[in-house]
Amino acid sequence: MTKIQNNVKTLTHFIGGEMTEGKSGRTSNIYSPSFGEIIGLCPLASTEEVNEAVEAAHAAFKKWKRISVGKRVQIIHRFRSLLVEKTDQLAEMIGLESGKTIADAKGEIGRGIESVDLALNAPHLLKGEYSVNVGGEINSFSMKQPLGVVAAISPFNFPAMVPLAMTSMAIAVGNAVILKPSEKVPNSALFLSELWKEAGLPDGVWTVINGDKEAVDAILHNPKIHAISFVGSTKVAEYVYHEGTRHNKRVASFGGGKNHMVIMPDANIDQAVTAFLGAAYGAASQRCMAISVAMPVGEKTAEAFVAKLKEKVQELKVGSYNDENADFGAVITQESKDTVIKYIDESLEEGAHLCIDGRHTQSEKGFYLGPTFLDHVTPDMKIYQEEVFGPARIAVRVNTLDEAINLINEHEYGNGVTIFTNNGPAARKFTEEIEVGMVGVNVPIPIPVGYHNFGGLKRSKFGDGHMFGPDTARFFTKTKTISERWPEAKDIGLKTEFSFPSNQ
Ligand code: NAD
Repeated sequence: MTKIQNNVKTLTHFIGGEMTEGKSGRTSNIYSPSFGEIIGLCPLASTEEVNEAVEAAHAAFKKWKRISVGKRVQIIHRFRSLLVEKTDQLAEMIGLESGKTIADAKGEIGRGIESVDLALNAPHLLKGEYSVNVGGEINSFSMKQPLGVVAAISPFNFPAMVPLAMTSMAIAVGNAVILKPSEKVPNSALFLSELWKEAGLPDGVWTVINGDKEAVDAILHNPKIHAISFVGSTKVAEYVYHEGTRHNKRVASFGGGKNHMVIMPDANIDQAVTAFLGAAYGAASQRCMAISVAMPVGEKTAEAFVAKLKEKVQELKVGSYNDENADFGAVITQESKDTVIKYIDESLEEGAHLCIDGRHTQSEKGFYLGPTFLDHVTPDMKIYQEEVFGPARIAVRVNTLDEAINLINEHEYGNGVTIFTNNGPAARKFTEEIEVGMVGVNVPIPIPVGYHNFGGLKRSKFGDGHMFGPDTARFFTKTKTISERWPEAKDIGLKTEFSFPSNQ
């Protein structure tokens, strides 16, 4: 049950199919970034609460894994229909707690549904391999089985899409899932819980445990959790990867990004600017795949691109999540706003040129920042080296495509990148040589569709798992290989062999 005190409600966990009150006595504030107000309190689970939830999930797993994959998929089908039916309600919730516009929230739900669609393919993706007569009447086959209880730990910036991407396939292939959403946006995860319940998912197969580092550490250390999918900042992603694998778990850990857009001299500048605006400033730049650096090749390209961009950035409108005219909303917290302003201030001291200044956007309430654009940023500046999770975007000018490729390849992050060009050989060289996981050619944000694998390289991803895509079915299952022989009764007497068996 949700408790309401002084008009502020305390949320719950979702354990064993029920909204369950927190017992730790610890909570954190949930803000509405658009209005700067506290809209709820998030319970922060203790280690004991996490362990209890894992026990309930483990009990549910033992039954869920025995349900046929066809029946499991029917439940996922119903869940998908509910997501479509209740998109408006969920989008409102996402907007209120994350600050992103309703249109953007609907976009994220749509991409989340792609992951659910992929999970509907579980019967196909679970098919094993079969070889007949591999030796002396022996047949050999492989089977994919669920791991058991698995966990997903998600960030604030996609309250629905990332949890859906991390968990849909895990459930479809027969696991029980514990989701630990960001404590900044727990409402959307609890809403998904109601939809799972309504779709008929057995109690305990889906659990939401709210919390902070204590809950994450409890997940990392619980021996009944066999795999962890993490999405968040690189520092925490690296910690989760090392601590999880040290405890013998499978871990796919996705971190931050610094995504470049290379603009070649032959590119259509209008197209490049239009693409940059949405990809760079959408969701107040709080996307791991947001374009943060424009990298025009050659002075003429840089002058044309920056001049056009300046004109267009000035027209962008910032507003509350439910303002239909807003291009993007507030950033997640006041602290986040202060951090972005600090990056801008420091880059100016280091010699960057301020083209558009969004630091002083007027608002009585809410964590608003206008769009900022800085030119003549150099690779030694902090604003280039680090991920900036807010609407301060930059241009780093280069002279050649090789220079662009070298700089991008030397960067700590390797999540997404895109090139705008009409030159086929340049695009081919770029896609072959670039050390980045998701690469675009003349597209603004190269996020793969749900049925392709998603994941960066370098310090944007730890572990070899992917999110979205068929690789999720592999990540959430173990493979067994069986060799079997069914001899006629008269042939049962086997001859003992002491040499290693060979087919030769
Ligand atoms: P975050 O790292 O602060 O939090 C992510 C999760 O980790 C949350 O559930 C949080 O409760 C938990 N957490 C936070 N600090 C922790 C600690 N010290 N120990 C253990 N757990 C901890 O990230 P965020 O601010 O919520 O999300 C933004 C970040 O996520 C950005 O860096 C963004 O690039 C990244 N991101 C990456 C992808 C991707 O696919 N690579 C997708 C979305 C977001």
